[in-house]
Amino acid sequence: MAFLVLKIDVDTLRGTCEGVPNLIQILRKASAGATFLFSLGPDHTGWAFRRVFQRGFLRKVSRTSVFKHYGIKTLSYGILLPGPDIGTHATSQMRATRASGFEVGIHTWDHVYWQDNARIRERGWTIAQMKKSYARFFEIFGEEPWTHGAAGWQMNEHAFDQLDAWNILYASDGRGYSPYRLMLEGLPLSHVQLPTTLPTLDEVLHRRNVNNVANYLLSLTRDNEADHVFTLHAELEGQKLAPIFERLLAGWRSQGYTLVSMADYYATLNLESLPWHPIAWGKVPGRAGELIIQPG
Ligand SMILES: [Zn+2]
Repeated sequence: MAFLVLKIDVDTLRGTCEGVPNLIQILRKASAGATFLFSLGPDHTGWAFRRVFQRGFLRKVSRTSVFKHYGIKTLSYGILLPGPDIGTHATSQMRATRASGFEVGIHTWDHVYWQDNARIRERGWTIAQMKKSYARFFEIFGEEPWTHGAAGWQMNEHAFDQLDAWNILYASDGRGYSPYRLMLEGLPLSHVQLPTTLPTLDEVLHRRNVNNVANYLLSLTRDNEADHVFTLHAELEGQKLAPIFERLLAGWRSQGYTLVSMADYYATLNLESLPWHPIAWGKVPGRAGELIIQPG
């Protein structure tokens, strides 16, 4: 029986307050496990939105659809309104997620800041950012984080190294096809990477008609031969795109997948047999820029 891991990236205050509770309901109804990865510091979504306008990125996605998914208020954070601190504003929602029995982990401190800078920054900057998210996670949950999934699939060698320093056993920081260990200067890191194997809904939406999105994704998993990691977003599948997510969950169930968290999936792996790969970057259809990828 194959596994389908549900990894939920939570990027914004609105996603944490509105999308996360919706997803908890949907997942419970489907008896599905999942891992929620939180953005724990300031919400600077507005910075990204400004960049989006500057780059003419909206030729692909209409302005109305960006407003529809994210909302005017979220898109103003960091521009018209100061960016609210998600971890202090949404502590109760984060704790409720854990109390509902779902795995929780670190997505990032400041999503936009990390995504725009992480690849090229030095050790000092990297560790300082990561320590902020770690401290906030501990403050909210009263325990050390078990796992990590990088914002925008952006990392650097210091960040991967820091996961080991935190005794993280498994993380999902890039895109790929199967679990592996990273090699840094010829030596394997001890944590296991569980890369996202499927395209995200927004990547598929950039390419296909909305009506086909669920069928297209289900066509990629039809064989039920390999395990998969699917990344979803509280801001999308937890809000306007929830009906598509419910169709996906039902479809994966009927294809024979067990829907699990990262922790449950990690527990099934034969750790001795995992391959090692160096850090690599590459492009993914439907998404701008380069991301951490699994070579091969
Ligand atoms: Zn994210």
